[in-house]
This record gives sequence, structure tokens and C-alpha cells, in this order.
Amino acid sequence: MVNARGFLATVGAASKLVQALPADDSFTTTPPSSLSPAAEQIAHDGSLFPGETLQLTPGLLNSIASELHEQLDDHHDALASLFSFVDASSEMKRSDSNCRAYIDNEIWPNGLVWSIFKRLLGKSLLDVAPIASPCYSNWDNYDEDYCSYLASNFTNSHLHMDHPTSVMSPFYQGATCMPIDGEPANCTLGGFPYYVVNATSVAHIQLAINFARTFNMRLVIKNTGHDFAGKSAGAGALSIWTHYLKGISYLSNYNSSTYTGKAFKIGSGVQSYEIYAAADEHDVTVIGGEGETVGFAGGYIAGGGHSPLGSIYGLAADQVLAMEVVTADGKFLSTSEEKNSDLFWALRGGGGSTFGVVTSVTVKAWPKIGATVSSFTFTTSDTGTSEVFWQAMYYFWTHFTTFADAGAYAYFRAYAIGEDEYYFGMTPFFAPNMSKDEHDSLLEPWLLELADLGIELDINATYYDNYYDAWQPSFPLETVGLDAGRIASRLFPRNRWENETLMNETFVVIKNTTENGFYFTGFNMKAELHPDNTENSANPAWRETVLHAITAVAWADGTSTDDIKTLSDSMTYGCMGQWRAVSPGAGSYLGEADSSEPDWQQSFWGTNYDKLLSIKQKYDPYNVFYALHTVGSEGWEVETETGLPTQNGPLCRV
Ligand SMILES: Cc1cc2nc3c(=O)[nH]c(=O)nc-3n(C[C@H](O)[C@H](O)[C@H](O)COP(=O)(O)OP(=O)(O)OC[C@H]3O[C@@H](n4cnc5c(N)ncnc54)[C@H](O)[C@@H]3O)c2cc1C
Repeated sequence: MVNARGFLATVGAASKLVQALPADDSFTTTPPSSLSPAAEQIAHDGSLFPGETLQLTPGLLNSIASELHEQLDDHHDALASLFSFVDASSEMKRSDSNCRAYIDNEIWPNGLVWSIFKRLLGKSLLDVAPIASPCYSNWDNYDEDYCSYLASNFTNSHLHMDHPTSVMSPFYQGATCMPIDGEPANCTLGGFPYYVVNATSVAHIQLAINFARTFNMRLVIKNTGHDFAGKSAGAGALSIWTHYLKGISYLSNYNSSTYTGKAFKIGSGVQSYEIYAAADEHDVTVIGGEGETVGFAGGYIAGGGHSPLGSIYGLAADQVLAMEVVTADGKFLSTSEEKNSDLFWALRGGGGSTFGVVTSVTVKAWPKIGATVSSFTFTTSDTGTSEVFWQAMYYFWTHFTTFADAGAYAYFRAYAIGEDEYYFGMTPFFAPNMSKDEHDSLLEPWLLELADLGIELDINATYYDNYYDAWQPSFPLETVGLDAGRIASRLFPRNRWENETLMNETFVVIKNTTENGFYFTGFNMKAELHPDNTENSANPAWRETVLHAITAVAWADGTSTDDIKTLSDSMTYGCMGQWRAVSPGAGSYLGEADSSEPDWQQSFWGTNYDKLLSIKQKYDPYNVFYALHTVGSEGWEVETETGLPTQNGPLCRV
């Protein structure tokens, strides 16, 4: 064990050393090739994926030290320690700089260090140009045709998920390199990370964590880039890209103290459509999201994860039986109700990029389940007047507890389409475990109310005998990649429907939202803890919810920074202020949230926050992991030139 002073001395010596050493391009001794890649096959009981068995070990670190000693002579001790583990109980402190290392500042690692790091990682350290750099002449990959392709496909999530740094909400990267059709201008890295570790083994992740911790680097984790606040971006950061951790293993007879039955072990790079296909192949059902490209085992489960099956089985995080994770000290840990149970509790709902890098999760597989699905829309053209439109909406509103209690997941939108003209779209009404007749009977009372208003809804429902076939056509790929908008959300509790006055108050607020020009998306559903599942750290507000509501504000290209702030504030404090006022003590869904959420600790975790914070302090006393509004992040902020809440700036202590 190294005490605080000893460690600081080592790092101090190392920083002086790396500053004194020549840069990589002028260094005459190449780091030895025998260092590459630095990973050792560990003995295991067969429960790990191959990539999880390739790890960094103390023995391996010793060999690295000896190799460096031979090649680099006197400097080897300090250099070798730069990639080592720490003991979580020691009081190690990283550089006392107020900010994380930032490109080319005095604590930024020099060329030699990067070169050794690169060698240790094999071919996994990537130097990545912004996704839209082919549109700009200031990068060396200008390509007009590819730029046109990017411009026309930028709203497609497949484009971004397959790219090592791209995020699906580019506003938060700083929108410094959008695909523009026209004059090539200046494209900068902005909030994109500086280097990426394309992780295919635990050893890659351990090296990245140890390196970031030692060098006071900002560390980000990118899985798919779906996060609505661009939480997988970070200027000057080292990024761990988990996309290729794609293992899927079907376990026909998983056995633990809380569960015996079918399960899947799933790599953290696996996406919804991949695990759904695997579950279908085995005639079972996995609880995942509606969004097909969302990373199943990354931010989705870490944030709680709502599902078209949520009203029956609860959150995706509730289904987890075990998780493998690399923590801030660089150690690989297995977690479950039996092992490291505090961390296991925190990882299921406590948020991504907080406690470690998850490498795999094991989740329950439920029996095959059928579903009936329908989609329908109406507008003010169908209702004649906006009064009738809102009356139809109101009637729908009054059935929320009945629909959710029956097991439905109603995904709908309402927005203005003109002066006093509105659109309502149900895309879809998803009724798991219901026959077509049961689905029709559930909707019938509302349809009769609509008929009284003179609205005839043509509802064409289809029954599917399994979840995969029902899900696939019902949730088309959603649009991403827009840099001129932000979202916010609220979990409206059941008690708002307990009496007419409260229900009416809530309805009026949502009506105001739409009338004031904000978009409205609703998920009428519930997410109670299923009696067969175990408690976790997901927002307790979920357990009371019958409506997860999202609003959004958008602005035109070229809107000034000041106007963006004004519009954003009108959503966060104006519209959302009203939502909060009618749902006191409720919360917001972390996975689909406002990047300026006030009192976010309460909103995202309620009474679970204090316990989560103590677990964060236990497993990451160094604050290696940071993302906006994650547990323990209150001491840090990204300093941006514009004052907008983007990731385009150094990460500094508040
Ligand atoms: C089109 C679309 C559809 C959606 N559909 C749904 C839905 O049906 N249900 C629902 O609940 N949510 C949905 N979401 C929200 C989604 O669940 C969250 O954005 C989630 O955080 C995405 O996780 P990711 O890993 O795919 O994305 P990323 O943006 O890559 O990661 C999100 C966060 O998790 C962290 N993270 C990722 N992987 C790891 C890891 N292995 N270890 C530790 N931290 C990690 C990242 O650092 C980041 O902070 C949707 C979002 C979009 C844009």
C-alpha cells in the first residue's frame, strides 16, 4: 500500500519525468513490442465472457515494469506505476489541479506516455476525427459525397452508434462539427473526447481507468451515444467505447439465492434489437426498451429502463441478477445479491458513468408472452374544434390508471400543428398478455366517449403471439442527431388520478404545455417492483408512476446563444415549473431528462440519493467517473465559453 504522500511523490516524479522526456516523435527508443497487448488470461469458472477473462494482473504489471526498465532505464519505476491499480482503502490523491488534464496543459500526458499506453493497448487506442469531419476542409478526410450521405442520414441512430465518439444529441457536444451541405467551414473536436479505447477486454478498460486516474484525465464511457444530454462526450477526455462488448449467452438454468430459471448474460455493448432477437430464438422474453438501438446493458439499465412490458414486469433494472464491472481502482468485480451487494444495488438504477464500467449483466428471461398492438391518430380536423380535441384528450387522460393496471404501455404524442390546431398520435397502444378482444374491451369505454363527441376512431389492432413480433413493427426507428433542441421529463404519480380536482389540475398543465408550443410525449404505463424481483436504486418515483411525460423545446438554426438560453429556461422553469408544481415530491426519469433539472438529486433518485452517494464515495473516492448529474458529480462542472450546458470545455471543480 502506498500512503498519500508516497503516491503524490510518485506522481509528482512521474509528471516531472514525462515533461522532461522527449516527445514521442523524437524519442529514439520505441516502447517494447512485447508489452503489447498487456493482458493475461485469468483462471475462471466459465461464467465470464472471453473478453472478461483477459485482465491486467499485478504479475503482468511487474513484467511491464521490468520491460520498461530495460528499455527506458532509470525512468521505469515511475512509468510502470502510471498503469497500476490502487488500493481502494488507501488515501491516494491525484494531482491537486482544480481541473482535469486538458489538451496540452501542464498536466496533459506527453508523447512518450501516450506511446507506451498505446503499446499496452495493442491496436485499441483510437484517434478519432469528428463524425462529420469529411464535410470540412480543415481535416484531411474531406469527401463531398460522403458528407452528403452524412447530411441525409444524420437523424439515423445507426450512424452514430457505430461511430466511436458521435453522440445522438450533438447540441451537448457543442455542435462544433455538424454535417453541412455547402461551404466547408471550420470543424473542431469540441466536446468529443481526445482518444478512444476501443474496449474488447477487461484489460483495456483497466488500463484506461488506471491511466485516467493517475493522470487526472477526464474519463467518459460511450456505448451507443443515445443519452439525451450527450453524457458519453467530454472535451479532452479519454473515452472507453464499449460498443464491441457484444457477448450474448443463454443460460437455461441460472441459479442464485433469489432466482432459478432462464436467463441471459449480456455484454455491455449489446443493443435492444440484438437481445430481443436472441430471446426470440430461445422462445423467451427479455424486458428491454422500445428504442431498438438503445444500449441494453449500458445507460439503459443503469438508469432504470422503461419497457413496453414495464406495466407487467417493472423496470429493466429490476430484472438484473448479476453484473460484472471494473471499478475506479482498476479492479474487476462481480456483483450480485451475494457479492458486493451494495454496488449491485447501486448499479441497478444509480446511473451510468458513476460506479464503474459495466462489462456484462445477467438478466432474467421470462416466458414467451403475446401482445395486441394498435396505432391511431386524430387531429383538430377530425374533431372539428380544439375544444372537442381537448375533451377527447381529457377522456383519454381519465383512463390512465385503468390502462396501466391492465398492463398496457401507451406511447403517445400531442403537439400544435397550426394556430389552434393540434395532433394526437398513439404510436402504439401496446397491450401485452392481452388478446385482441381484451385490448378492444380495454379501449372501449374511451371509444364510446369519443363517439359521443362525434369522433370515430378507426382502431385496427393486431395480435402477435410473441413479444419480438409485436415489438418490431410497432416501434419504428426514432429520429436522433438534431442539434437544436432539448428535452425534459416528469414521472406523474398515481395519486394525481385519485380525485377529479388533482387529475384536472394535471391535465390543464399538460394542455398548457402543448398550447404554448412545446412538444409533448407521454408513456402511460407503470413500473412497480414485481414481487419476484429485488429492490434496487432506481428512482422510487417510478413505483408510483402512471405517466412518464416528456416535453421538448426546439429552436431554429442560427438562434443566438442568449435566445437558446431563454427558450431553454422557458422549458426548464416555465413549462416544467408547472409540471413540478402539480406533482410535488415526484421525480424525473434520469434516462430521458432535462440537462438543467433543478434539484436533480431528488428528482432522479429521491430517498435513494444519500445511500447512492455513500456507495459512490466507497467505490470511487477519486471521482474517476463523472457525467452531468450523476451521483457525486455536484463538486464538478464543465466550463464552457458559451455558458450553455454542453461538454465542450474543461471539467473543473466547482
Ligand atoms: C431514440 C431513443 C430511444 C430511447 N428509448 C428508450 C426506451 O425505450 N426506454 C428507456 O428507458 N429509455 C430509452 N431511451 C433513453 C436511453 O435509455 C438512455 O439515453 C440511455 O442512457 C442510453 O444508454 P446507452 O448506453 O445506449 O447510451 P450512451 O449515451 O452511450 O450512455 C449513456 C450513459 O451511460 C453511461 N454508460 C454507457 N455504458 C456504460 C457502461 N458499460 N458502464 C458504465 N456506464 C455506461 C455513459 O457514460 C453515459 O453516461 C431512448 C433514447 C433515445 C435517444
